[in-house]
Amino acid sequence: MLIGSTFLNMLYLPFSFAQQEISLQLRWYHQFQFAGYYMALEKGFYQDAGIKVNILEGKAGSLNPVSKLLNEEVDFAVTNSGVAIHRMEGKPVLALAAIMQTSPLVWITLKDKNLTRPQDLIDKRVYVLPPPSSAELLTLFKREGLDTNSLIKKATSHKIEDLIEDKVDAFDGYISNEPFLLKELGYEYNLISPKDYGVNFYSDILVTTEKMAMQNPAVVKAFTQASLKGWEYALANIEESIEIIHHKYAPNKSLPHLRYEAEKIYELVMPNIVQIGHMNPGRWRVIAQNYRELGMTDGQHDISGLFLNHSDENFRWLINIVFIALASILVLIIIAWRFAYLSSSLKREIHRRQYAENRLKKSIEELKIKATHDPLTQIYNRRAFFEKGDELLELAYRKNFKSCIFMLDLDHFKLVNDNYGHSVGDQVLIHTTQLLNQNIVRKYDLLGRLGGEEFALLLIDCDLEMAVNIAKRILKSIETTPLTTKDKVNISITASIGVSEVNSSSIEQNLINADKALYIAKEEGRNRVNIYN
Ligand code: GH3
Ligand code: MG
Ligand code: MG
Repeated sequence: MLIGSTFLNMLYLPFSFAQQEISLQLRWYHQFQFAGYYMALEKGFYQDAGIKVNILEGKAGSLNPVSKLLNEEVDFAVTNSGVAIHRMEGKPVLALAAIMQTSPLVWITLKDKNLTRPQDLIDKRVYVLPPPSSAELLTLFKREGLDTNSLIKKATSHKIEDLIEDKVDAFDGYISNEPFLLKELGYEYNLISPKDYGVNFYSDILVTTEKMAMQNPAVVKAFTQASLKGWEYALANIEESIEIIHHKYAPNKSLPHLRYEAEKIYELVMPNIVQIGHMNPGRWRVIAQNYRELGMTDGQHDISGLFLNHSDENFRWLINIVFIALASILVLIIIAWRFAYLSSSLKREIHRRQYAENRLKKSIEELKIKATHDPLTQIYNRRAFFEKGDELLELAYRKNFKSCIFMLDLDHFKLVNDNYGHSVGDQVLIHTTQLLNQNIVRKYDLLGRLGGEEFALLLIDCDLEMAVNIAKRILKSIETTPLTTKDKVNISITASIGVSEVNSSSIEQNLINADKALYIAKEEGRNRVNIYN
C-alpha cells in the first residue's frame, strides 16, 4: 500500500519542512510490540527524515488511540483494525501501514479445562474488550456458525491471574504476551486463535488524520517510511532491539519475556513473506464486512477512504518534475545567454584587435614609405635609392647584365626659385618627376631623388647606347613640356644628364662616375647628355 519513493522524498523534503516535531500514540505499554518505532528513533531514521518524534506509551483503560488522534491530541497512533469502523462512520482517519498481518489476539484457556475449540466456549465466561476491540475473537465465533450471545461476556481485567484463579474461563490475550507469563508461573494452556479459523484481521495499524495528511503530506510520508525502516531494522536485529527496549523503554519486562514476545511478533509481522506495513484493500473490505455482520457498526462510508490518496502524490510528482524541468531550462538559458554574451564580446575583442593590427600595419607601412620615399615627389629618397640600387646591382652582376646609371640635374633651377618662388620650384620638381616616370617603363628601372634638383636613374639590363637614347628622350621631354602654373604661366626648364656604364658593384662609385659626366655636360653648355669615359 505504501509505495515508498526515496527519490520523491529527496525532492520533496527540502521544500516542505525542516525538523518537524510530531507525536505518536502507542496502544499499549512499552514492549517489543512497538519495536520498529523505538528503533527508528534510536537509529536516527526519524532524525534523518527531518522529524522529531515523541513516542507516547499507552495504558490500560486510557482513551482509545484513534479518539486521541481525532481529538488532535496526537499526530499519529498505533491502533487495531477497529479503525475501519471509524472510517465507515465517516471519521477522517487514514491507515498508513499495517504492521501485523494477523491479529495477536487469542483466547487463552487453562489446559486442564480442556477448552480447545470455539464451540467449547458456549456458556462459558469469556473476557472481551469493549467493541470493536475484540472483533476478531467474536468473528471467529460467527465463522463457526455460533451465536455470540451464547458467550458469557465479561469486561476484561487484563490480569492473567484471573484465569488462574478461575474468575474467567477464556482470557482474551496476546499470543505474544500472556502465554509466556502462564508458562513462567508453571501453568499449561490452550490457545484458540482466530488465525487458525481463517480470520485474519490486521493489527497494529499506523494511522493519522486526513487533516495531517493534507497539511503535511511530506511529514506523513517521511514518518511512515522512517517507521517502516525502523521495523525492518528491529526485526533484522532482534537481540539488539530487545536490549535497547529493556534498558530504555520497558525495564519491567524481562529479557526472556521480550525475546518470547519478539519471536511471536515476528510471526505476526511476517517480514519474510510480505513487505512490512503491507495492506490489501480487499482484506480491509472483508474486515469491514465482519464488523458490520457483528453489528458493531452500520456505518455506510466507503472503506477505500481509509487509504492515502496517491493521486495527490502523483500530482506532486508531476509538479516536481515540471519544477525540475523548468529549473533545468532556466539554467540552460542562463548558460546559453552567458555563452552568447562571451562569444559576442570575444567577437568584439577579435574585431578590435584586428582593427588595431591593421592600423598598426598601415602605420608601419606608412612609416616605411616615409623612411624610403621623398615626401615631395613620392619617389625613392637618397638612402632608399642606394639600398635598392645595391640589391639590383648584385642581381644584375649575377645574371651578367649590362647596366647604366644616370645623374640628372636641372639647369639653372635656382633661377626658378628666385623668379617664381619656392613653391613653384617645388611644382617644377614634381612635374619633372612625372616626366621621368613617363619615360622609364621597365620593371627594374630605379628612379630616386638624391637631393635638391638632382635625380638618379639606374637602368638594369641596358647597354650604353640604349641608355643614351633614353637620356636624350628624357631631356627632350623636359625641354618641350613646360609646367603651366595656376596663374597660367608657362615655365620651361632644361636638364643635364651624366651617363655611366655600371662598372662597380657599389652604387656610390658608379654615381661618382655619372656625376663626373654630368659636370662635364654642365660645362659644355647644359641641356645635354654626357657619357663617362
Ligand atoms: P646649375 O645649372 O649649375 O645646376 O644651376 P642651379 O641653379 O640649378 O644650381 P644649384 O645646384 O646651385 O642650385 C640648386 C638650387 O635648387 C638651390 C636650391 O635653392 C634649390 N633647391 C634645392 N632643393 C629644393 C627644393 O626642394 N625645392 C625648391 N623649390 N628648390 C630647391
Ligand atoms: Mg644641383
Ligand atoms: Mg642645377
